[in-house]
Amino acid sequence: MATTAKTWINNVIKPEQYERYLNKGQTFLDENFINSTLDKAKNPNPAYIKEIIAKSLALNRLEPEETAALLNCTDEDLWEEIFVAGGKIKQAVYGRRIVTFAPLYVSNHCVNSCVYCGFRSENNKTKRKQLTQAELEAEILALIRKGHKRLIMVYGEHPDSGVNYIAETLQIAYQTKEDNGEIRRCNVNAAPMSIEDLKKLNEVGIGTFQVFQETYHPSNYQRLHPKGIKADYRWRLYALHRAMEAGIDDVGLGALFGLYDPKFEVMGLLMHTIDLEEKFGGVGPHTISFPRMELASNTPFTSANKAAIDDKLFKKLVAVIRLSVPYTGMILTAREPAQVRQDIIPIGITQIDAGSNIGIGAYSTDTLDYDKQQFILGDTRSLDEAIQDLASMGYITSFCTAGYRCGRTGEYFMDIAKEGKVHALCMPNAILTFKEYLLDYASEETRIVGETLIEKEIAALANPGLRNKVKGMLGQIERGERDIFL
Ligand code: SAM
Ligand code: SF4
Repeated sequence: MATTAKTWINNVIKPEQYERYLNKGQTFLDENFINSTLDKAKNPNPAYIKEIIAKSLALNRLEPEETAALLNCTDEDLWEEIFVAGGKIKQAVYGRRIVTFAPLYVSNHCVNSCVYCGFRSENNKTKRKQLTQAELEAEILALIRKGHKRLIMVYGEHPDSGVNYIAETLQIAYQTKEDNGEIRRCNVNAAPMSIEDLKKLNEVGIGTFQVFQETYHPSNYQRLHPKGIKADYRWRLYALHRAMEAGIDDVGLGALFGLYDPKFEVMGLLMHTIDLEEKFGGVGPHTISFPRMELASNTPFTSANKAAIDDKLFKKLVAVIRLSVPYTGMILTAREPAQVRQDIIPIGITQIDAGSNIGIGAYSTDTLDYDKQQFILGDTRSLDEAIQDLASMGYITSFCTAGYRCGRTGEYFMDIAKEGKVHALCMPNAILTFKEYLLDYASEETRIVGETLIEKEIAALANPGLRNKVKGMLGQIERGERDIFL
């Protein structure tokens, strides 16, 4: 590796930027506390589980011992109650709408060695690629022609795709427009950064900044990330604290399920949530993600994985996260096959990606090349098919980004989410963006199912004044206006 790259790597981590968040030199992730809490919660009393369900239904965040009790529940009837409660919580906070986005892989150059990832630096079969400005514009055009309005832009960690490149690519994504098509929100999944770099991303209008801890278990983390910048567990553990400090008030947590004991990981996600709430005036994660490990090209770890999690257990883990942090958005990605997503969405999912292609440059060239991908996708339905299936299940697809552009983020968002009021504000906006999609991009079948659903949801709006207002705005959209919101 060239000396300049080595110098860059050696200068990324700034320990003083996380040391101030430690408690007497220790992180918020207390391994012994998690293990003993899980141990003490074995064989939970059914009455206690019902109390916990009631607490979540009242939209209160759970405490570690309560989450541990849910994780230890073995009564299948109670699990059914937990699933139903998850759906009710989602309905109370967010309503019957699913926010939809597309992943856009921008660069797969990476200096790290995560054993489960197709992009790890040792994988010499991976075709490395970093999008140029023209290639990125072509990708954005391909995405907006399908109807996408929201992206998660994904990057490996490499000096060539450092913060300046990320900031430039965000600006290009926002500026590339055609007819009614445009990207209105770019979230980012990239390596942990310094506060100075995160401020640069905030200035160019980053949406949510996501960093997944992968595994919260310290020694397991070390084993799976043996070298490179990512080997520093603490730099990663406090990545989102730094983002909040830099003014990015929507942050997304995640754990990669399949690397370690999943109960430990759910507890880790909760401890992370609690620490963010404590340090940032009650503001916890905007979203939580729970990717399950998938096969990756030329990556033996992913095919010989001993910690694999079956669908039944996975659904229970998702439900426990839903009950534990009622206010948070929950993302279920296209790593999962369509039937798994359809089974899990009703227990509390708020966001999915759809029509996804994760090869670099793959949207504009319409190609599928596993050697340019980080892993292999489970749900390959088109955006239109996924939207039609969601509508048949009774969910409005939302492309809404109004909340962010009106400053409904961070503390303001948390307050209305905790009181179950997001739904009242966002459902009308979801309907308006769904209408845009139906008029501009949908197939005939999707339009028919979608229009019927819109009528039903308008009838369900409790306030007659609001109902009339939304009807009027739908008329404006039919007459050609776009991007109107409450
Ligand atoms: N390079 C950045 C980082 O590591 O933070 C960006 C993230 S990576 C491109 C996106 C996420 O994909 C990772 O954080 C990890 O959780 C997930 N991932 C990696 N390998 C995977 C696999 N084989 N199956 C499923 N998800 C995987
Ligand atoms: Fe690089 Fe991220 Fe893949 Fe690790 S997970 S090898 S850091 S792209």
